[in-house]
Amino acid sequence: MNLVYPLFADNTFATVYLLVIAFAFGAVFASFITCTACRVVIGEDWTKGHSHCDSCGHELSTLDLIPVISWLALKGKCRYCGAKVPARDVIFEIVLGFVFVGTLAFNRAVDPMVIQTLVLEVILLGLSLADFDNHIIPDGFLLAMLIVWILFVGFMPDTAAYALDGVLAAVVIPGILLAVSALLNKALKKSTLGMGDVKLFACCMLFTGLYRGVLTMFLASVIGLIFVAISQKKKIAFAPAISIATVISLVFGGTLLNMYFSLIGG
Ligand SMILES: [Zn+2]
Repeated sequence: MNLVYPLFADNTFATVYLLVIAFAFGAVFASFITCTACRVVIGEDWTKGHSHCDSCGHELSTLDLIPVISWLALKGKCRYCGAKVPARDVIFEIVLGFVFVGTLAFNRAVDPMVIQTLVLEVILLGLSLADFDNHIIPDGFLLAMLIVWILFVGFMPDTAAYALDGVLAAVVIPGILLAVSALLNKALKKSTLGMGDVKLFACCMLFTGLYRGVLTMFLASVIGLIFVAISQKKKIAFAPAISIATVISLVFGGTLLNMYFSLIGG
């Protein structure tokens, strides 16, 4: 069974069609996961109940829930009470749409690895929002990552090597992080890395493997420092930095690592 569908090969129409569909899926899943993250954090049951306006509580119809389009059509207001609907959710819908398109376009094919990455991106957006808003990474999201990894392992070209690489990275890299943060905690006399961050690292490493895992650790630190500099706060949510680093490693990691190895190789 051939599980790889090449993009940009000969059928331009099919490629454009797939990229447009990818954008739509990205927007829909962003809409779903931002709502889920919100509900998980406040302890509401995320599997039940229709979406409702946060101001007037009116149940939203399907027409009110079309990602991006509904918000634009209603000029960013609730149809029933006129309360402003924050632009943030719409921005994330557009962002995830483009992230989906970029993931497909850069991979130049639809295969199990790329579909796994898309699913992972949705979960990472959810837990990043939860961490950003409430400084908590709900275990449910980490469990979802674990389940996605287990489901997709069997579809990878070399299952055994992929699984071994992932598990090794998930043990070794968080281990290094724990050791470094223990030293830092002693030196600075404060807690530097939350347990949630370490667990998230371990879950991400399953997907990245060892080489891309090291790259992820490096990128997450750089992005984290940039966030600290921008926000001017001493303590920031680290999950968004880890998530962005993981996505960059998965989508561009091969290219970045090749560049690095050809540089040091002369
Ligand atoms: Zn309303």
